[in-house]
Amino acid sequence: MKMNKPFPKKADYVIIGGGISGVSIAWNLAKKGAKNIVVIEQKFLSWGATGRCGAGIRQQWSSEANCILAKKSIEFFEKAQELLEYDGNVEFKQEGYLIVGSNEAEDKQFEDNVKLQNSLGIPSKKLTPQEAKEIVPHLNIEDVYSATFCPTDGHLNPFTTTDAYYKAALREGVDFFTYTKVTDILTKNNEITGVVTDKGTIETNHVINAAGGFAKEIGEMVGVDIPVYSQNREILVTEPIEKIQGPMVISFSKNIYCQQTPHGAFLMGRGDERPPGYSMESTHTFLDEMAKTVTSLLPPIGDLRVIRQWGGLYNMSPDHQPIISDSTLVKGFYMACGFSGHGFMLAPMTGLLLSEMILNEPPSLPVENLKLTRFDGKDIKEYEKSVV
Ligand SMILES: Cc1cc2nc3c(=O)[nH]c(=O)nc-3n(C[C@H](O)[C@H](O)[C@H](O)COP(=O)(O)OP(=O)(O)OC[C@H]3O[C@@H](n4cnc5c(N)ncnc54)[C@H](O)[C@@H]3O)c2cc1C
Repeated sequence: MKMNKPFPKKADYVIIGGGISGVSIAWNLAKKGAKNIVVIEQKFLSWGATGRCGAGIRQQWSSEANCILAKKSIEFFEKAQELLEYDGNVEFKQEGYLIVGSNEAEDKQFEDNVKLQNSLGIPSKKLTPQEAKEIVPHLNIEDVYSATFCPTDGHLNPFTTTDAYYKAALREGVDFFTYTKVTDILTKNNEITGVVTDKGTIETNHVINAAGGFAKEIGEMVGVDIPVYSQNREILVTEPIEKIQGPMVISFSKNIYCQQTPHGAFLMGRGDERPPGYSMESTHTFLDEMAKTVTSLLPPIGDLRVIRQWGGLYNMSPDHQPIISDSTLVKGFYMACGFSGHGFMLAPMTGLLLSEMILNEPPSLPVENLKLTRFDGKDIKEYEKSVV
């Protein structure tokens, strides 16, 4: 990464965070002709949730907003290699997601979900256990009641995808400063005037908070209360083997997801609720639970050796939908956070929608339900209970 540029004294736009959201916002802004864009990252690109994530891309959601955001993002990912003119490989593997359910309640939810998804043009379908086994032959269907499958869901490499956006943004003139921490944001009369970092202060009127698990703290710097919290989620990777599994397999009742990457390794994680905080530890409890559940659902995986396990932060919003928003309190302050565990797959639309908002262009999709104002007047604790 080129770091020999002098640290800027002024910028038109300062993006905080060098994860997939930050690089997508930077590239989209620059592509639209915005100039003097600076991305500030406290560590290295992909250090946050992006480099720790499963990078799965699914359109099979129960909320219309997520379905549409994911569908539009997939349309971008299908062409990302060319659109970003990337000389590496984003490793887009589009072999679907198989979601298995183990009871009648899940079956009913699958029915409703597929109806909604099909009405939005998403080619998902419901399957019997036997049909599911035809797609993933090593699936143990003893506990499987029914399943859904969408063949256009998939998976990318989070590091090379971030790198592709980064290099494309560089070519558009964006400046990146890594190992640089934002410590404060300056305002005057409720308008952004600057960003303070440990390398110096940048005069600017626009700040974009793409700080992932640390987005709340960035909001506090300007007095904007963003109702998000962070939570550790663990994941592991096995040794690689010959290809035996096409789709990502998910079970909500067993609380796991598991996919085989193009290199042959299996990547898998669990959705256990953790207390809010910033711990990214990896635990023996996770390893134990993960091993038990994955081998009950996908038995041959029990023979594989675990190579590495790690943790990363989910940034949770009260309704588990992203916050892609301006601020009605502080002019020039924008945010892309609260992705609640699915911000990687939404990044193309995050960048597009936020850049349109910043440049006062008409939105490609309705954005009111993504804005911070949707929580206005709500008791967040009660609201969380009602939607989760
Ligand atoms: C285990 C795990 C599995 C996941 N699996 C999936 C999946 O399969 N599909 C999916 O879509 N999503 C998944 N996610 C969620 C996904 O990783 C995130 O939603 C997404 O990566 C968020 O990207 P981001 O750029 O917004 O945040 P991040 O990638 O966290 O980037 C934010 C960056 O901001 C920087 N930063 C913070 N504070 C400051 C500061 N003060 N100064 C400078 N820089 C700062 C951080 O260092 C960080 O690099 C998963 C997450 C985890 C943890």
